[in-house]
Amino acid sequence: DACAAANDVNTIPKMPPFEYTPPPYTGPTAEEILKKRKEFLSPSMFYFYKKPVNIVHGKMQYLFDEHGRRYLDALGGIATVCCGHCHPDVVKAIVNQTNNLQHSTILYLNHSIADFAEALASKLPGDLKVVFFTNSGTEANELAMMMARLYTGCHDIISLRNAYHGNAAGTMGATAQSNWKFNVVQSGIHHAVNPDPYRGQFGSDGEKYAKDVQDLIQYGTCGHVAAFISEAIQGVGGIVELASGYLPAVYTSIRKVGGLCIADEVQSGFARTGSHFWGFEAHGVVPDIVTMAKGIGNGIPLGAVVTTPKIAEVLTRRSYFNTFGGNPVCTAAGLAVLRVIEREKLQDNAHFVGSYLKERLNALKDKHEIIGDVRGRGLMLGVELVTDRQLKTPVKVEILQVMEQMKEMGVLIGKGGFYGNVFRITPPLCFTREDADFLVDVMDYAIAKL
Ligand code: PLP
Repeated sequence: DACAAANDVNTIPKMPPFEYTPPPYTGPTAEEILKKRKEFLSPSMFYFYKKPVNIVHGKMQYLFDEHGRRYLDALGGIATVCCGHCHPDVVKAIVNQTNNLQHSTILYLNHSIADFAEALASKLPGDLKVVFFTNSGTEANELAMMMARLYTGCHDIISLRNAYHGNAAGTMGATAQSNWKFNVVQSGIHHAVNPDPYRGQFGSDGEKYAKDVQDLIQYGTCGHVAAFISEAIQGVGGIVELASGYLPAVYTSIRKVGGLCIADEVQSGFARTGSHFWGFEAHGVVPDIVTMAKGIGNGIPLGAVVTTPKIAEVLTRRSYFNTFGGNPVCTAAGLAVLRVIEREKLQDNAHFVGSYLKERLNALKDKHEIIGDVRGRGLMLGVELVTDRQLKTPVKVEILQVMEQMKEMGVLIGKGGFYGNVFRITPPLCFTREDADFLVDVMDYAIAKL
């Protein structure tokens, strides 16, 4: 098969060696699982591949299927696995905590939760030091939006077109792509023009996009807003970097009318962007509320909202709690993640390997007309495929064909963007230069085969 061939034949790219043998798998086959999934799981589940892969084991930046075949995980869960799959320190922390205490309620004290809150707060600037734990990014953003509304007494929230902030009632309102929206009541949410340097109407002029937010406040609200929420780099939206100068200008406008600034760091946090620990830091702003999930627990369900003591006061008006948020097993994993990022210098690695990978992807763009844009920072990179560079016409099936071929050669990659035509590269942060070379060589080969 092509994957095994990738290891043996010189004409096609060779996967970097990895001294590791996964344990033998004796579970059900892909076909058996598929049958159950069709019968018992929601039909909303989708797959990228014609024949879905049955992933049974993970080790660092690699995944293994039922036949022991190895794949380079260029999607990293979905930007969740930051330290690497089943990183031994994270596994150890989870096992130790599970053996000790699986769950307690907020009615009692437990050091795992408090230790992690303290460690997390130490990673944030300014007065951002009060933590509230949730189970997901959606919950974190729901809570952040509610806190802003309570704090300001205003209802209106501004988010960006093309944003993804979650899929519950409030956050689905803030999410701004028809692909991800159902018929929810979108009360008080306004979507500003996206400061997208590649597709946006003002190119990379951050100031012009920021003026649109001022107009939105004047024309679409009563002149005051509760909050502005945005990602530092849009992830689901196709790795869209915000035009430079945009966030500082918008933060100023929002604060002028009494609103709070919420940074959604669900994808861009935890060292992923390489240059900084948080995505917002690259824009030189300090938010009032920061939300996070995904990388926080290396794939364990965990999210958090971090804010200032003054804003956090709004939650003391009545009881507010979350049964599983801050579960000690999850927070033990979170603490281990922070230590691994620091000890293994994963932020530096994301910066250096990410810069190298971006360089190589840009060289690939010079070679293949179908690549319209390469963007992102650190190990959060996007490659947009178009049929016409001038018109920026999004490809349709071609991206799936390239993905299928890449999978056959041993690379799993994500896709997204409003038109579904952008490769999303968000691997575990232990990704190496050799992995980057392999990824680009495989993408080169797969595009050439179109
Ligand atoms: N915010 C961002 C930026 C995301 O990318 C996502 C999920 O992809 C969410 C929020 C929602 O997180 P979750 O799926 O954990 O609810």
